[in-house]
Amino acid sequence: MGLWAAVKAQRLGMRTILIDSGGLGQGASYGLVGALMAHLPDKWSDKKQFQFDALVALEDEVARLESETGVSCGYRRCGRLIPLPKPHLADIARRHSLDAETRWLTGDRQFHWHVLDKTPHPEWLNASIGEAGVAHDTLAGRASPRRFGAALVAALKQGHHVRIIENNGVVRFDGREAILADGSRIAFGHAIVANGYEAFPLLETLGAPRLLGMPVKGQSALLKAHVDTSLPVIFLKGLYVVPHEGGTVAIGSTSEEEFDEPFSTDDKLDALIARAREISPMLADAPVVERWAGLRPKAIDRDPMIGRHPDHPHILALAGGFKVSFGVAHKLADAALDALAGRPMAVPPSFLLENHLTVARAAV
Ligand SMILES: Cc1cc2nc3c(=O)[nH]c(=O)nc-3n(C[C@H](O)[C@H](O)[C@H](O)COP(=O)(O)OP(=O)(O)OC[C@H]3O[C@@H](n4cnc5c(N)ncnc54)[C@H](O)[C@@H]3O)c2cc1C
Repeated sequence: MGLWAAVKAQRLGMRTILIDSGGLGQGASYGLVGALMAHLPDKWSDKKQFQFDALVALEDEVARLESETGVSCGYRRCGRLIPLPKPHLADIARRHSLDAETRWLTGDRQFHWHVLDKTPHPEWLNASIGEAGVAHDTLAGRASPRRFGAALVAALKQGHHVRIIENNGVVRFDGREAILADGSRIAFGHAIVANGYEAFPLLETLGAPRLLGMPVKGQSALLKAHVDTSLPVIFLKGLYVVPHEGGTVAIGSTSEEEFDEPFSTDDKLDALIARAREISPMLADAPVVERWAGLRPKAIDRDPMIGRHPDHPHILALAGGFKVSFGVAHKLADAALDALAGRPMAVPPSFLLENHLTVARAAV
């Protein structure tokens, strides 16, 4: 989120300092999975419209970033297969299909929620998993989180407007100064707080009645498997199987609100890998090349947390992307910069920092 905001600020010619307590792009965004998943097309809302528009726009955003930097983001609108193990799920999927026809369109682009009798790729998705068929969504995609981050960093390093400070995080704010871990002070006109799950405690120091959000641990793995990179992502009950460039397939993710060791993996990941091998014959013997865990930022009202702090208008939030950050961060960064410039923000009201503060107050 912060990298996108800095890239967009640079393009606007704004003098910017990007401060990271660690190395750039090494937080939750340094994961393996990179699924770009749409919300279901039913019960349409401003939130679903925002995410749809963001997923469509990402294609051009990535093309521009790649042409500016020469760094591939490993992006592809590859679609998604969702096995339907029970007949009633096929009925629901057919309703989603009609919803998609009226909702998943923009200009001359139309995306679909097809309902198929059986898997179109039996070696990739085991036919016995979807007894009642398979839903095939053509909006979903994937990107390589690490390459994506590297492209954003490369874009920043090409320009001259963004000064980068690494391994020296913001500890607190004192008026219009940020106090860094080494005691130095950085004066600012506006500050965008975009430090993942650690944004919540930092924003709480500005006055919040209770916790504004929490970290949710996720575990994932990377397998070596030379599969066709045009294959769709598979999604089944929280399990993602994502084909990436370079002969790898990512598997994710656990969702753990309670944990002792945030950055290590355990038997919960083993179980996930075993499930992936069951549903995808191509992965049966694929060796695991990496296991990785990270902390997702989940805001109190679950939605992203964006915009000016009502009591400290020179400080803005850009956090809380939880499980969908990669598909929306570019659009949220635009919105944060609009707010900073005093323009209205084109985001659903539930995303506003002000809304999250209200929810936090009501929960006391
Ligand atoms: C296992 C797993 C799988 C996931 N899969 C997907 C997926 O398929 N698709 C998807 O869209 N999302 C996915 N997510 C969620 C996604 O990774 C996160 O929502 C996203 O990375 C959050 O981005 P961020 O910029 O808010 O935070 P981060 O990427 O965590 O970045 C925060 C940055 O702030 C820095 N920082 C922290 N504290 C300070 C401070 N005090 N001062 C300065 N800097 C600081 C950190 O060093 C870090 O660089 C997954 C997450 C996990 C854990």
